[in-house]
Amino acid sequence: GPDYVRAIAPYQAGKPIAEVAREFGLDEASIVKLASNENPFGVPESSRAAMAQAAADLGRYPDANGFELKAALSSRYDVPAEWITLGNGSNDILEIAAHAFVQKGESVVYSQYSFAVYALATQGVGGRAIVVPARDYGHDLDAMAAAIEADTRLVYVANPNNPTGTFISAEQIEAFLDKVPANVVVVLDEAYNEYLALAHQFESSAWVRKYPNLVVSRTFSKAYGLAGLRVGFAIAQPAVTDLMNRIRQPFNVNSLAQAAAIAALNDKEFLEKGARNNAEGYQQMIAAFEELGLEYVPSFGNFVLVKVGSDDAAGARVNLALLKQGVIVRPVGNYGLPQWLRISIGLPQENATFIEALKKALG
Ligand code: PMP
Repeated sequence: GPDYVRAIAPYQAGKPIAEVAREFGLDEASIVKLASNENPFGVPESSRAAMAQAAADLGRYPDANGFELKAALSSRYDVPAEWITLGNGSNDILEIAAHAFVQKGESVVYSQYSFAVYALATQGVGGRAIVVPARDYGHDLDAMAAAIEADTRLVYVANPNNPTGTFISAEQIEAFLDKVPANVVVVLDEAYNEYLALAHQFESSAWVRKYPNLVVSRTFSKAYGLAGLRVGFAIAQPAVTDLMNRIRQPFNVNSLAQAAAIAALNDKEFLEKGARNNAEGYQQMIAAFEELGLEYVPSFGNFVLVKVGSDDAAGARVNLALLKQGVIVRPVGNYGLPQWLRISIGLPQENATFIEALKKALG
């Protein structure tokens, strides 16, 4: 295989519950998993009902163009259906963008401490990564604009960012988009958008109208609770969307996922319940960190990054101590943050279980 494929370090997903149960001799039901920024309420009831109906037709291929889901997204975000690309999760969107816009040897710009899939997608096409040092654990957009070179084809920006939870204001994003050359595609990854205050939610589809090189990426995995079904989507102008749709797999979103996504999109109550739980759970988490004197990065997502020690073995050590107590969180040493752990916000009782386990782990 190509050298650039051999150079890829595999994605590190959250440890599955069954694996931890076996490894540490624990009862699966007692395990708390706050490791993958999943929705603690699981799949909305409305999506379950929609899937039960769609299940009758599983002998047929899914709608390759996702007609109904795109129609629902089109009216929800006030953009034509031709501006939408569906993805097998938004990871698929991130990868489709690399395939559509980057040739081997050309460069891709993204931030230090930003989402791991940007590196994977870049390496997967033999692209050259330009990793821009973070500022206060978040994107330094001025430095990122300055880092763009003549052969740069793509820039990834995560807002809020994973794993740090940092947020970039609308003004900063627009100022950045104004500086990026028109032939460089910007993927604005808004996987955690729905956790932001409502005021922030609809700016990005207006930006897509203004910037022909902008791709806004969203997912049903987080606030909509459909991580296991794998549905994401991108909004961009037709010239960009057309190229992304040429390279994507024809049936990349399955029938159950399409049906579930349409139902979830219309389930305002579920979204509000999740956002409320998240805001309260975040306060519960940071109150505990403050009590324990632990540094954390203020987060705008459904997770929070906390510093659990000042030596480079701290993250792995505390992670192991948590695993032994049946609590799964995410070490972020692979992000260059070996002293930190990323904790997803769960239900109040799950958060409390984690906090108790953390106290024990820290001795
Ligand atoms: N972008 C960011 C910033 C993420 O944190 C994640 C999930 N870890 C994704 C994209 C991809 O999520 P999915 O493929 O489930 O949509």
